Amino acid sequence: MRSQESLQSIIQNFNEVEKGLSNREAVEESNRCLYCYDAPCIQACPTGIDIPTFIKKIASGNLKGSAETIMSSNPVGASCSRVCPTDELCEGACVLNHSTKPIMIGNLQRYATDWAIQNEQVLFEKGRANGKKVAIVGGGPAGLSAARELARFGYDVTIFEAEKQAGGLNTYGIVSFRLPQAISFWEVEQVKSLDVKIKTNVRIGEDILPSELLQSYDAVVLAIGMSKVPSLHVEGEELDGVYDAIDFVKKTKSEALSTEFVGKRVAVIGAGNTAIDGATCSVRLGAENVQILYRRTREEMTAYDFEFEFAKQDGVEFRWLTAPIRIIGDENGKVSGIECVKMTLTDPDADGRRKPVPVEGSTFTIPVDAVVKAIGQERYLSLIQKFQLHHEDGVVLINQETFQTSNPKVFACGDVIFGKGQGEAMVVTAAQQGKQTALNIHMQLTKETMETA
Ligand SMILES: Cc1cc2nc3c(=O)[nH]c(=O)nc-3n(C[C@H](O)[C@H](O)[C@H](O)COP(=O)(O)OP(=O)(O)OC[C@H]3O[C@@H](n4cnc5c(N)ncnc54)[C@H](O)[C@@H]3O)c2cc1C
Ligand code: SF4
Repeated sequence: MRSQESLQSIIQNFNEVEKGLSNREAVEESNRCLYCYDAPCIQACPTGIDIPTFIKKIASGNLKGSAETIMSSNPVGASCSRVCPTDELCEGACVLNHSTKPIMIGNLQRYATDWAIQNEQVLFEKGRANGKKVAIVGGGPAGLSAARELARFGYDVTIFEAEKQAGGLNTYGIVSFRLPQAISFWEVEQVKSLDVKIKTNVRIGEDILPSELLQSYDAVVLAIGMSKVPSLHVEGEELDGVYDAIDFVKKTKSEALSTEFVGKRVAVIGAGNTAIDGATCSVRLGAENVQILYRRTREEMTAYDFEFEFAKQDGVEFRWLTAPIRIIGDENGKVSGIECVKMTLTDPDADGRRKPVPVEGSTFTIPVDAVVKAIGQERYLSLIQKFQLHHEDGVVLINQETFQTSNPKVFACGDVIFGKGQGEAMVVTAAQQGKQTALNIHMQLTKETMETA
């Protein structure tokens, strides 16, 4: 029974769920690949990994070569092998979908990169120093990817990271049972091995001013991602037992796990991947009942299908067309319930979107002990303003080809440029944008050098 869940079993619940392929399974699976000419899977991978080549290398036993092929296109390829929505990307494009089942590209990618991790491989070398310096603000997938490429081009690169450890949401945001921290740390070490300096516990805008970076470096990359979960704007948000989903998951990745959720009833507000992570974490912490409340329906939910299925398997319940209007507290200021209203969807508006509106007289109360807010992420508006960059509601505006912001010395990539209403932000897109940013900085600074020579 959940209420008897011990700390030991909670710790086990946070072990990685998916088991990797065995040697035999990996070889058999790689031999199924047709090694298509002009392979559609390569086009479908945002980082353009040469998938048939890395698979062929597995089949021939060249695991280091396979990991090099993966990681040269994707500096966070070990994490991506675990978190990419592969059925929507590479595996979704596999020609074998038409006859049997697609090649398990993600699992094979994991097999090769796990080998590199277990055998402590250092895969790349830094380029010949070119005397130019680049500062990167934020050490998540976008920042690490830009740093790795710039170091290979010969730049002197420094990453400034606000947290204790680099890796961004790979280190602190995506639940341990899908992405253990050790995988993210190995990717950080690969970047460090190219003499990239990573200054952690440094928050740009507070510890160092943007103007200082602009003075001391030839270019600056803004890769700060997004911030905390916004307010629900309902009464009772200040009560003990109300959590921000990002902080909540971070705690499970960075602090010792505890039994404080054992036997609890939890309501998670939202329906994206963050909500799913908040809900599945609650289950694995021993919660008795976990419900996701969403004001629209399954159809409008932004979480990936595999995440939705995963949550259902964990026993998470879904209440569609349900919006919170008040969080109720007991005499000790602790959450005891959540008052909700039933919603209905209007006819599609000009954008084709159906708006949720409350159904009159439909309020009801769900008794809960904790509420996890997971309705998206705010932006780091104050830092963006300190850099004096053009933005739209905190989404930094860039030249889509060059990744340059309104200040030509500042480039931006990853979640900080991720626009609204475009599905979910992804690790693999952040990695690709980091690579493209590095290439554009290289082209820009090389051009400037030639012009002044
Ligand atoms: C709960 C959750 C689950 C997710 N699950 C998936 C998934 O399954 N698959 C998937 O593909 N994507 C997933 N995503 C999305 C994915 O994690 C992001 O798209 C990706 O991490 C973006 O990378 P980034 O480098 O732009 O930002 P981040 O990963 O957020 O990294 C930004 C870094 O900048 C640092 N920073 C911020 N401000 C400052 C400052 N002032 N000074 C210095 N450093 C600063 C931050 O500490 C952070 O380390 C998930 C996101 C969340 C929140
Ligand atoms: S990085 Fe992601 S999309 Fe690209 S091949 Fe690997 S698993 Fe597929």
